[in-house]
Amino acid sequence: MEIAWHQILGHRQPIARLRTLLREGRLPHALLFAGPEGVGKRRVAQALAASLLCLGEGELPCGRCASCRALRAEDGAHPDFIALAPEGKSVKSIRIDAVRQMQAEAARRPTLSRRRVVLIDDAQCLNETAQNGLLKTLEEPAGAVTFILVTTAKTALLNTIVSRCMTVGFGPLPAAALAAALAARGIPQQEAQNLAALSDGSFHRALQLEEGGGLALRADALTFLKERPQLTPLTVFDRGALMGDWPREKLAEWFLCLHTLLRDLLVLYENGASPLLYHKDLRQELAACLPAYPAGTVLRLLALTEEAQHRLLSNMNLRLLVEGFFLHSMEQ
Ligand SMILES: [Zn+2]
Repeated sequence: MEIAWHQILGHRQPIARLRTLLREGRLPHALLFAGPEGVGKRRVAQALAASLLCLGEGELPCGRCASCRALRAEDGAHPDFIALAPEGKSVKSIRIDAVRQMQAEAARRPTLSRRRVVLIDDAQCLNETAQNGLLKTLEEPAGAVTFILVTTAKTALLNTIVSRCMTVGFGPLPAAALAAALAARGIPQQEAQNLAALSDGSFHRALQLEEGGGLALRADALTFLKERPQLTPLTVFDRGALMGDWPREKLAEWFLCLHTLLRDLLVLYENGASPLLYHKDLRQELAACLPAYPAGTVLRLLALTEEAQHRLLSNMNLRLLVEGFFLHSMEQ
């Protein structure tokens, strides 16, 4: 795994705070990293874990000692590093058995480093029994062990868990930093900027969008808005046949694009120069759509879009769902 601090995008303040505590030997034994998905919390947790486990001196982690080498190896296996993450695809959870197993391991003497580090990813997936099981260990850990809990939903954790940890908050990444990081991966500048603007400060989301052709889907949703006033039942069935074959995730992405575009139309009604626009780069094209979209129409389309998004979660036949949406969207 990546363990170097300098390779982490953004989060200068929390990183500086953690490194100071680390240097001064004042780092609490239980930490809670909380913030939105895909901004780099896990990366920071890994760098911190590596620093705690490092056998070197000076700036930690040294990157060269046996501990650092073990963490950086392909499998990332380190005898004193315990990672706990949710199991299961549809219902993700961390169960009490996994917590008990971790506790047994964490209580043993460290073998390579001077302490053990337990990283619990997606800690909100700890079910209540598992959280209660964890409480005692957080309160009185046996031996030299540091717990780092990472979560996107601090509110899903018991207050008793939260109160035993030092919370470190992570915010969204600034769009400029995101765009620069995307460009560094070889994504053309303009596309990098568009992706950054659309991803709510999440690097993970930006990459997902890039991979899933998010910008093309957005362009298609905008085309639909432009063409909708001239749609006929025949073109609707064409669209239904085409989009009905899309994977569910792609459809969900398309409806999400449409939803944010519609929301922007409402923002433009209020204030054409608003900084609140989600799709700032499409301001002119959206403004050109306004004459065909009285506010009442936008609200009705928003409701239809939300209904379609909701139905996507069911087992409904996708072609029927798409056709239904487009037919209703034609009503003035
Ligand atoms: Zn080291």
